[in-house]
Amino acid sequence: MSTRITAIRTGRRARSYAAGRVCAHPFCKTVLSVYNSGALCGMHEGESPTTPDEILFPPYQCPTCQRIKPRNGENFHVDRAMEDGLTRECADCRNRSDRSEQARAKRTRRLRRKRERTA
Ligand SMILES: [Zn+2]
Ligand SMILES: [Zn+2]
Repeated sequence: MSTRITAIRTGRRARSYAAGRVCAHPFCKTVLSVYNSGALCGMHEGESPTTPDEILFPPYQCPTCQRIKPRNGENFHVDRAMEDGLTRECADCRNRSDRSEQARAKRTRRLRRKRERTA
């Protein structure tokens, strides 16, 4: 009886692969089966492999300027709260909104000071 359990365990270990792996094709979020030994899902299997750069930094569309840029630290700021560690907006948009936010903060600070003085 104990020998049968051992046989099942070793059999399962030999056939399955790490769970939770995702297809390496850019934009594809398909989770690979634990029985899939490759890096691509069934739909993308057999397709010409993309360049390593595209796998590492898949093209990503900025939701603000709609421009498509490689998803890397050069085009996107670091955001640890995000799943992949980068902000959704591209660095250009981030810089622009940062500047306008700073300007707005300066203006409100000035207004508040003025109000305090008159009060
Ligand atoms: Zn895929
Ligand atoms: Zn942008």
